[in-house]
Amino acid sequence: MELKFKRVLLKISGEALKSGADDIYEKDKLDDVARQIIELTNEGLQIGLVIGGGNIWRGKLAGSLGLHRIEADYMGMLATIMNALALEASLKKMDFDKVKVYSSLEIKTVTTAYNYREAREKLEQGYVTIFAGGTGFSYFTTDTGASIRAIEIEADALLMAKNGTKGVYDSDPNINPKAKFYKHLSFDDLVSKKLQVMDSTAATLSRDGNLNVVVFDMNGHNNIKKMAYGELEATYINTEE
Ligand code: UDP
Repeated sequence: MELKFKRVLLKISGEALKSGADDIYEKDKLDDVARQIIELTNEGLQIGLVIGGGNIWRGKLAGSLGLHRIEADYMGMLATIMNALALEASLKKMDFDKVKVYSSLEIKTVTTAYNYREAREKLEQGYVTIFAGGTGFSYFTTDTGASIRAIEIEADALLMAKNGTKGVYDSDPNINPKAKFYKHLSFDDLVSKKLQVMDSTAATLSRDGNLNVVVFDMNGHNNIKKMAYGELEATYINTEE
């Protein structure tokens, strides 16, 4: 078995770190992601990671509390930093110390200020690099942050992990049993077919950066590993299987 990529940017949502509605984390989920990342790194894959914040807070919840969107977005960015630290701690608990958390927001005690040159060097040295804080700007998403970081670290692919959907369909497969699954798509297809893969800013940036994007289901035994070895059915955007 051969790794399909040398360097990837793996984007997982915050929701992927929990299962029930009550807790923000589930031990088994964190441990499973950490284990797969360690194994893949030991097998030679260079991994940059972006984790969302949706298990803790999303900016669009601002209205429900009568808060201003900008403060709420910064709260969301802070949530992504919590998630980055949770994953860092999970990796270290498994005796894997080559992990570096970079943040777009300045939080000097527990993160390092983001620097793409240093991040590339660390990746070369076998470090898992976690990019926290999204873009560092309100009104953006971690999908956009992931796209920018993938371009900047010169990732072979941006792996967009979904939870329970194997890729991109023309309609919601949970509602429409005849939904059509797409194996290959172009960025133009995303726009013309109005496909909800990532937000439009992230899609535009990914197109401009000529990124290879793969949308896959991370739920399932070793699915992140299977994806890295090209052994999982997935949707390939701007790239061949
Ligand atoms: N966010 C932001 N700017 C960014 C990235 C994230 O303002 O560059 C905020 C935004 O409020 C968002 C929240 O952080 O709702 C959590 O990120 P996201 O919704 O992308 O997380 P996910 O849904 O992937 O878990």
